[in-house]
Amino acid sequence: MRMHPRFVVLYGSQKGQAQSIAEGIAQEAEEHGLVAELSCLNQNEKYNLEQENDPVVFVVSTTGDGEPPDNTLQFVKRIKKKTISSDHYKHLCYALLALGDTNYANFCNCGKTIERRLQELGAKQFYATGYADDGVGLEVVVDPWLEGLWKAIKDAVSKMESDKTASPTGGPGLASPSGGIGSVSSSAPEAQTEAGGVSHVELAASLTCSLPPLSESALNVPVLPPSYLDVSLQEGDAVEEVRSDTLYEVPISKAVQLTRGDSVKTALLVELEISVNVTYQPGDSFDVFCPNRDSEVEEMLQRLGLQDQRKHCVSVSLKKDTKKKGAQVPSYIPPNISLLYLLTWCLEIRSVPKKAFLRALVEHTGDSVQKRRLQELCSKQGTADYNLYVRDPSLSILELLKAFPSCVPPLSLLIEHLPKLQSRPYSAASSCLRHPGKLHFVFNVVEFPACFGRPAGRRGLCTGWLFDLINPVLVFPGKPDSSSSPALPKIHVSLRPNCSFRPPPDPSTPFIMVGPGTGVAPFIGFLQQREKQMQENPEAVFGETWLFFGCRHRDRDYLFREELLGFVSSGTLSHLKVSRPRYVQHNLLLNSRHIRSILFQQNGYLYVCGDAKNMAKDVNDTLTEMIKTELQVDQLEAMKSLARLREEKRYLQDIWG
Ligand code: FAD
Repeated sequence: MRMHPRFVVLYGSQKGQAQSIAEGIAQEAEEHGLVAELSCLNQNEKYNLEQENDPVVFVVSTTGDGEPPDNTLQFVKRIKKKTISSDHYKHLCYALLALGDTNYANFCNCGKTIERRLQELGAKQFYATGYADDGVGLEVVVDPWLEGLWKAIKDAVSKMESDKTASPTGGPGLASPSGGIGSVSSSAPEAQTEAGGVSHVELAASLTCSLPPLSESALNVPVLPPSYLDVSLQEGDAVEEVRSDTLYEVPISKAVQLTRGDSVKTALLVELEISVNVTYQPGDSFDVFCPNRDSEVEEMLQRLGLQDQRKHCVSVSLKKDTKKKGAQVPSYIPPNISLLYLLTWCLEIRSVPKKAFLRALVEHTGDSVQKRRLQELCSKQGTADYNLYVRDPSLSILELLKAFPSCVPPLSLLIEHLPKLQSRPYSAASSCLRHPGKLHFVFNVVEFPACFGRPAGRRGLCTGWLFDLINPVLVFPGKPDSSSSPALPKIHVSLRPNCSFRPPPDPSTPFIMVGPGTGVAPFIGFLQQREKQMQENPEAVFGETWLFFGCRHRDRDYLFREELLGFVSSGTLSHLKVSRPRYVQHNLLLNSRHIRSILFQQNGYLYVCGDAKNMAKDVNDTLTEMIKTELQVDQLEAMKSLARLREEKRYLQDIWG
């Protein structure tokens, strides 16, 4: 074997998780006597799979309804080309770590797609694929997978070298992650151990305090992530407004509370005054850009001891001697911005600190008890505590810093570890045929309960911000609008078209919509468009439409009640089935004959949309059961039928959680 064998790490990442795992692999390589070359899958000038003779490790996440991350789309498109010959990658040896969330349909779909295609093109797997589930905690699968990776890479390198001298075609044997599991799945035995561990934690343990055995245990702490940014603050003229061309600043022209005050959730409808030149289709969503809360930015400034430098210009550059592989100044930090702007618009200061971040914080913590606790929380042994006290309650870095007062990190560490402040997508709940120049959307105000480290509950970042913003102009259905007209607040949005979640192209095709709660939003757009089309083309043939809606109390949270009943009266909606949200599936079962006929005899479409994570899975299970009974087939055949519907883009989901 060569002195320092080389391998390639490629990642595709939407929110930075896959990227940080890939960076961790590249970082650790040296310790294992290996040299890693790290690239994002969209930097195709930096790697060349067509001529790659060393092992390749892919770390890829999945986003939306099983879609590849934005920076992986082109790669997936490239390898999916039908014209590529089946031995195109026969020289390639790869391992793949797929990240996903079983709460969503199409778990790890991007990883699975890449893997299937690599294999179809002749590539050989040298290490069993890991499918990590964010629903239970990525580390349950990621940690053992990474542990076994190093030996697998070394074995693959040796095997590839000996093959080069012997037979040019053979691939390396398949290694398994530590623990000897052939393919690490989300239900790996470790998951049960961790969950079991939680129930043994006694009540006196908390975010800041552990009990034996953890408090007495030797700890496996992750390697300290090398710092890579130099950050300085200078007095000067900082830019306060940095906006891209794709953003529109639009006024909120109306805000309506859709639920009654005594409902469990608060659902609100917002109407935006967009230009008539901006068009969108039913099924599209758009991004709302929200800032971090002023009060939290202020607290962060205080906590960092930088309150007097808020107006200073932030200058970020790469540390010359950094050991971090592939280090880059984050692209989402524009030049010449003020510190205040950075903390308000660029960094997700609410994000849950990852273990690597906790590890880095240890170095900036004075008190030895607090230091030890942070070490525990980022250690392998402390995974159950990390999940219980940090991950599950979505503890923010600010909340963590409050609980660990002797920890004072430098600003550079925050920039290195906090992800980009993401815009929040919302589904259009209107059609521009019905409301030209307007765009409606509906949202539930997210509520985080109080927990250790968070004495009072808090609202979701964007929904809490929108709620405060629209409060002065909020109207309640049935109550007259207030005569005073306060100034209309403005927000920044950009459109993100959805090419597949659209009504069927042929209006005579029947379709079924399943949308409990705010999941009904895009279907209001579908139906508004259809009503208009029906009015304009009275002679045309329109297929049947079904809507399965769910609400808790018909008098409190039956969203769009009047409008939906209006669609029924006008014949736009042929069947409206309303049930409690969890019983949407029961209503589907009650109508299974019609559903079968629409999907399998009339080539119809089925759309599922909603915010309830389990809903999509429950609906999927119900459909499988229904197909088994209706088509008299076994489980496997039923699942294949559903998969075919998905492939034909006749079974479409738009799920968020
Ligand atoms: P954040 O501060 O970002 O918090 C939400 C996060 O916290 C989520 O990850 C959630 O899992 C987690 N969380 C929520 N509650 C708790 C809790 N009690 N304890 C711990 N963790 C919790 N939303 C709509 O309401 N209407 C829509 O039409 C809509 N359309 C969407 C379309 C798409 C394509 C996508 C991807 C998402 C859509 N969403 C929609 C979701 C929306 O983008 C936001 O995620 C949502 O409004 C919450 O944003 P937030 O900033 O208020 O919450």
